[in-house]
Amino acid sequence: MPDDRTNSWEARAEASSFYGFTDLPTVHSRGTVVLTHGEGPYVVDVHGRRYLDANSGLWNMVAGFDHPGLIEAAQAQYARFPGYHAFFGRMSDQTVMLSEKLVEVSPFERGRVFYTNSGSEANDTMVKMLWFLHAAEGNPQRRKILTRWNGYHGVTAVSASMTGKPYNSVFGLPLPGFLHLSCPHYWRFGQEGESEAEFTQRMAKELEATIIKEGPETIAGFFAEPVMGAGGVIPPSSGYFQAVVPILRKYGIPIISDEVITGFGRTGEVWGCETFDFVPDAIISSKNLTAGFFPMGAVILGPELSDRMQAAAEAIEEFPHGFTASGHPVGCAIALKAIDVVMNEGLLENVRALTPRFEAGLARLAEKPNIGEWRGKGLMGAVEAVKDKATKTPFAGDLSVSERIANACTDAGLICRPLGQAVVLCPAFVMTEAQMDEMFDKLDSALDKVF
Ligand code: PLP
Repeated sequence: MPDDRTNSWEARAEASSFYGFTDLPTVHSRGTVVLTHGEGPYVVDVHGRRYLDANSGLWNMVAGFDHPGLIEAAQAQYARFPGYHAFFGRMSDQTVMLSEKLVEVSPFERGRVFYTNSGSEANDTMVKMLWFLHAAEGNPQRRKILTRWNGYHGVTAVSASMTGKPYNSVFGLPLPGFLHLSCPHYWRFGQEGESEAEFTQRMAKELEATIIKEGPETIAGFFAEPVMGAGGVIPPSSGYFQAVVPILRKYGIPIISDEVITGFGRTGEVWGCETFDFVPDAIISSKNLTAGFFPMGAVILGPELSDRMQAAAEAIEEFPHGFTASGHPVGCAIALKAIDVVMNEGLLENVRALTPRFEAGLARLAEKPNIGEWRGKGLMGAVEAVKDKATKTPFAGDLSVSERIANACTDAGLICRPLGQAVVLCPAFVMTEAQMDEMFDKLDSALDKVF
């Protein structure tokens, strides 16, 4: 970076911040984009440069960055009752109303909700709930957690152990007892001559073999994102959930749908499990829950787990777990408004209406010689760079290709996320057709610059 930037925002950011999930060589060579505000799906930096955010923050700012109704809901609740926990026999009226609403919009006819500050904490909480439940029911050995390679479930020690990413080895994770099944990505992991249906059956067989090998009586639960998000936007191979759910049911293993990204409309239905036509035992929600306007997560228990958890808690008169800001009234008021905005202000309809244009845009990019695959569901999608399209050979140097594409996008005024050798797109639900065209035009020219 030039010396005259010593006192710049970029230099101050680097001097004062310990970065997470950031490619440090990129930051050192290009500087940090320091943002001041947002306008719809755009963000603006300290130099007044505008960027179309194709990732809607971190998959979460679905209503854009300045939705007046959400700002008003936050301001009104801050003025009315700024903060409170949901423990010791007290909780805010907003918390009660949100729990009722979440159960109402869930695929469950009844259930109960527990609040956290993030998706990681919600997964962590769900694991503790399962351990608590099985122990209370006389099965303390039921502690193993099944997830998948490439799945992302968060960063706490437990949710990072659930996450199937090699980078967690730098922390000595996963913890023992966190088992990772294969990633159901047919294009990448399908074998020579194997049909997609055969691939799905192989995934199901692997699951059942793992359950039998480990002992069904040792397994606490199975967690899956309906579409893997941070793994690179990977929809499951066709029929995947129809193949694995009956096996999990056969062995009485609770099924948890991690809907931190897919919840509230991202895949075109309210929940990803609805898109993929399965009913889990519990749902993990965050991100879109507050349209990104407040850090909050929720565990939504379906009827059976709700009854069993309640009985387990009654037996010792308390579930000893919670966070200071669990059920924060401002977060709950914002979430109530966010649900209303997504479901009643045409956002869900816009996701459905924009999906064909989105898919067509991705498919056009995949015609390029160095794009091996496009994939997606609803308004989450990705294009995967390859060195050799015919053999699907990746570029050497893992991150560098998608990082270079993302940097070229930033130069063109588009923010999009490099993930492995893919570039992912996860636009706000409020995007217009013209903004979507702008997004694809910019990505298209960025790809041309890199290849
Ligand atoms: N689960 C999924 C599917 C996610 O995508 C994420 C975050 O991206 C998390 C959990 C963790 O959520 P948080 O970053 O709020 O802790």
